[in-house]
Amino acid sequence: MNLMLMGLPGAGKGTQAERIVDEYKIPHISTGDIFRAAIKNGTPMGLKAKSFIDKGELVPDEVTNGIVKERLGEKDTQKGYLLDGFPRNMVQANALDSIGAELDRKLVGVINIHVDPASLLERLTGRYICRNCGATYHKVFNPTKVAGVCDRCGGTEFFQREDDKPETAKNRLDVNIKMNTPLLDFYKQKNILHEVNGNQAIEKVFEDVKKILDTIK
Ligand SMILES: [Zn+2]
Repeated sequence: MNLMLMGLPGAGKGTQAERIVDEYKIPHISTGDIFRAAIKNGTPMGLKAKSFIDKGELVPDEVTNGIVKERLGEKDTQKGYLLDGFPRNMVQANALDSIGAELDRKLVGVINIHVDPASLLERLTGRYICRNCGATYHKVFNPTKVAGVCDRCGGTEFFQREDDKPETAKNRLDVNIKMNTPLLDFYKQKNILHEVNGNQAIEKVFEDVKKILDTIK
């Protein structure tokens, strides 16, 4: 089962990825991990990637594609894989088609965990931190027991990380929506895109994912 997982920041992609690879015993291939591994192991593509990173330059698509190809060529992907964070654009998506054909690792399903942007913004910007002890809370999912008072230390001053501030989060969402849209269209046209409602409890989302994957198997 050769799969790819998509979802905007805050949609719960990481949690679902863990559950999918546990349930279906396929390797989780996330771009961050395979980059680190390729560089650490000094593979031909890893060395190329390192030369760009060391110069502070963006790694070109052809190198990223090369790293994915090296990884998909490994034995443990024989029964399937779960791609996460790749492809991120159409150049990479087309490359994945060629790699899949060449290595007999063709993508058969794309799962998109869909949560509407307004709810995502609420999830992403709800986190706040006690200035005194560093305890982390969330306005909706994990508020302090007494409003404005830290459960752990009784502190009353809180702050938000830069990433969690509304403007930063909104911008990050917009960038990702723009990036994902052509990919979603592409896989929809290929008839391998499956939308899952991510606006439910984690367990329920995974149940829906399983229903889909059991039809692909
Ligand atoms: Zn505290």
